[in-house]
Parts: sequence; C-alpha cells; structure tokens
Amino acid sequence: MSKDNTTEKIYKAPVVTVMGHVDHGKTTLLDKIRHANVADKEFGGITQKIGGYQISHKGKKITFIDTPGHEAFSEMRQRGASVTDIIVLVVAADDGIQNQTREVINIYKKSNVQMIVAVNKIDMPGSNPEKVKRELASEGLSLEGWGGDIPVVEISAKMGTNIDGLLDTIQLVAELSEIDQIETYKPDPSIDYLSESVIIESYVDKALGPVATCIVKAGKISRGDFAAAGGTYGKIRALIDQNNKTVSDAIVSDPILIVGLTTVQNTGEIVRTYANDKLARQNSTKSINEQIEEERQEIIEEISDQFDFFNDDQEENTFRIILKSDTKGSMDAIIASLEKLDITGIKLKIQSKSLGPVNLSDVEYASSTKSLIIAFNVEVPKGLETSIKAKKVLIREYKLIYQLLEELEMALYGLTMPEEEEVIIGTANVKSLFILSNKSMVAGCEVKSGKIIKGYKVAVERKGERIHEGKIVSLRHLKDEVKEMSVGAECGIVLDPGFDIQTGDKMIVFKMEKS
Ligand code: GDP
Repeated sequence: MSKDNTTEKIYKAPVVTVMGHVDHGKTTLLDKIRHANVADKEFGGITQKIGGYQISHKGKKITFIDTPGHEAFSEMRQRGASVTDIIVLVVAADDGIQNQTREVINIYKKSNVQMIVAVNKIDMPGSNPEKVKRELASEGLSLEGWGGDIPVVEISAKMGTNIDGLLDTIQLVAELSEIDQIETYKPDPSIDYLSESVIIESYVDKALGPVATCIVKAGKISRGDFAAAGGTYGKIRALIDQNNKTVSDAIVSDPILIVGLTTVQNTGEIVRTYANDKLARQNSTKSINEQIEEERQEIIEEISDQFDFFNDDQEENTFRIILKSDTKGSMDAIIASLEKLDITGIKLKIQSKSLGPVNLSDVEYASSTKSLIIAFNVEVPKGLETSIKAKKVLIREYKLIYQLLEELEMALYGLTMPEEEEVIIGTANVKSLFILSNKSMVAGCEVKSGKIIKGYKVAVERKGERIHEGKIVSLRHLKDEVKEMSVGAECGIVLDPGFDIQTGDKMIVFKMEKS
C-alpha cells in the first residue's frame, strides 16, 4: 500500500485479546460480552468458528479475539503480525497473580500494545482486589492510581458486574492512544495489495476446504479478490462473518472467515489480496512461517549438535543445564516443568541454578561440565560474547516458560529419533491428463524407472523443482485398478491431495526409511 494514496483518518475498532491465568475467568468474560451484545444467529445450520467477534458499545465497535490463550498471541507476535491493540489481563481477585499472569506481563512489557487489568471474581467471598493491585505493582506494572497509566477495572464476569465499565475503559484507552484511528487510502490495484489480514486459525472444513479465520488489518477484502498467503495463492470464494452470513467484503478490524485459500495456514500468517491472479501469484512465494520454521530447525540442530559434543562423558546420555533466571518463582516453575519432561533415553540434569544475569563463571562452568545455559528473562552481557564463542558454549534465551519447554522437548526428542531418508521406488513422466466424473484429475504416465506402487508417496517435479507431494490413491492400467506398474508401462495416477498437474511433470515415487 503506498502512502501517497493516504487520504484521511477513519475509525478503527480496537482489537482486544483477553489473557490471564487459567480459571481466572477469560472464557466467562468473553461469553458474557458476546451474549450481551451479539445476537447469535445461525444461518442454514452452519456454525463456523470465526475466531473473533465484534460488538457495538455506545455506537462504536470493538473487536474481541475469541481464542483466549497466550500461545496464539505469542506466535502471532513472533511473526511480527500481531493484530492486538489492547490486552485485557484478567486476574481473579481471590487467587492473585500466578505464573501465566506473569507471562502476560512479560509479553506486554516486550510489545507496544496497551493493557487494561480486569480484576475479576469480585463477587467471591475471599476476593481482595487491593492485594491483586499490590502484587501487580510489585511485578513492575504501573497501575492507574499507583502513579501509572494502566487502568484497573473491577468486575465479575459471572454476575455481569461492571462489564460496561470495562467496555468504556477499552474505548477510552483506544481513544487516548489513538489506536481507534487509521488512515484511509485509495489502493492502486496495478501495484499494490488491496488488503492485509492476519490469520488467527486455519483448518480444513469438510464442505468448504481449507479456511482461515482472520482479523482484517488494513484495507478492504472482497469476495473474488485473489489472495496470497503462506507461499500459496487462491481466489477468495467466500467471506463469512461472525453471524455465519456470507458477505461480499470486510474492512479493518473485522473478524472474518476466508474460503478459497489452497492450503491450511499457520497462526500469524498474513493474507494479502490483489486485484488479479498474476499479482497474487507473484507475491505468494514467501511464507513467514517457513522462515520461522527454518530458524526453529536451526535452533534445534544447534542444541542437538551441542548434545553430541556433551555426550563423550562418563555419565551417558545426560543433557546438562545451567539455569539462570530472574526470579525464584520462575526458576521453581521451570525446574518443576523440566522434571516432568520425560524423554526416553535422555536424562536431564540441572548442573547449577542461580538468579541474575549470565556471568563469566557460568560460561566457564558450562564449558567444563558441557552444559547448555538457559537464560530465562535475564541478560547475557555483550562483554561475554568472546568467551562464549571461544569456549563453544551454547546459551538459549527465553522469556516464556512454555517456549523454553517446547523447544527443549523438540530438540531432545529429535535426538532420540532415528533419522529418516527418502528411498526412491520409481519414476514416471506425465504424458496426458483426464478429469474423472468426480472431478479428480488422472495423470496418464509412462513409467521411466523402478516401480509405481499404489499407496506410496509421490513428489511432483516440474522443471527440476518439487512443487507438490501426495499419495497414490488410485493406480489404473487401461480400465483396471492395479497394485503396481513396472518400467515401460502406461498407467493412470490419481493423487491425494489433488494438484494441478501438467504434462511434462515428473512423478517420483518414494518411501521413507530409517537410516
Ligand atoms: P478461563 O480458564 O480463564 O477461561 O476461566 P473460565 O472463564 O473458564 O472460568 C473458570 C471458573 O471461574 C468457571 O467456573 C467460572 O464460572 C468461574 N468464574 C469466572 N468468572 C467468575 C466471576 O466473576 N465470579 C465467580 N464467582 N466465578 C467466576
């Protein structure tokens, strides 16, 4: 979108994500707001999950993301694709701040979104909102009334107490921070994209195929536009709104379900729409998720390599960790979770643990004991870089416990898995194409080497590049369904998932074998 086309500012509904510790009342709050403000209608019996909903409060819209949970939010933020403007942090007044409350505070501190604290369950006999505020302040949140600007609203989601007050506060914060304003633009369809949306969730619907629930971030998305997302492109066949109604278009902050993408996408992936097929295709080469996945693989390999390096020790198959953390609370939580990690064949050992930044003696100790340093919410001083490199010590930094666990688990699990490699069974060239009455495409092929076997995996190669992978679900010789075909034979192949095969494509039949 080019800036030159900017015209004026229009209202943008703030996008709100509700976060907080489990059981503190996120779902209850989202349900309460939804039921009080959205007339739930079902159209034609379909109830698609849209991933968010929009309400109107005092004549202005607010969008709520319907999936409470930090994972989705963090995933999106990692990909630089956050749609959230305001986090509502729910804290139960009878329970106070807990691990996930702290995680949200960390997420907030690292991002540039606004925060509102909703102290919930004030109807409970043991509720103590003042204590909650004190605890939040001691975690470094600057609350309103305590010298800061983060509003605190006391509510009962269950009883519906002060929900209007919370909605008022959301609108006030949006107004004061000017997140409810966005520039309009007149897109130039020959060079620019028409809209940008962020995927909250994507799945295959039995009737509709791959669908994606999104929040529109900019521009206008319309049925019939061409969309690029996650390295693929497709035509938008339908847009479904929160009332399960098909609509012709959607604008900024609207939650919407997109039908017509060719594959299921990851959370946080961006969908951009274009006026024509060619532009969409040109812009569909890069997937944000592929980049993230590559980075992740690199990290896992790095950790795995380190393990080989550590493993020439007397204590066999022990993976050693030096744990550095910011607070005793998070350290205890990490240790408790690490103890629960159960990976056959590998023993985890916490070689040492301490609070505060990583220091030279940690690095030296890691080198002599062959340990991985985990730095949780603590600094790794720049001055240590040379020693870290010289001593070949690996340090992984984390801000969120679940990320630490997920990464470590994957790396360790990867170590215990025998590697698999592809064994080619046969190849065939596509010479002609037929469409069956059930719309599936049959590729008429000549077997060039080895065997073609029904049920095996196939990679489709075009101009030396792999462009698709599927499984042989039907193999035909003349009119008969057969199990396998040998060199020189002609046969018809149907793949699942189907694909736009062309004559000249090469089919490579393979199986995976443990090396
Ligand atoms: P979530 O895990 O954060 O989504 O929490 P839920 O919304 O599922 O709520 C957990 C439990 O707390 C449920 O039994 C709710 O009925 C209850 N709850 C939620 N909000 C309130 C409230 O304001 N007051 C009381 N007394 N209970 C609540």
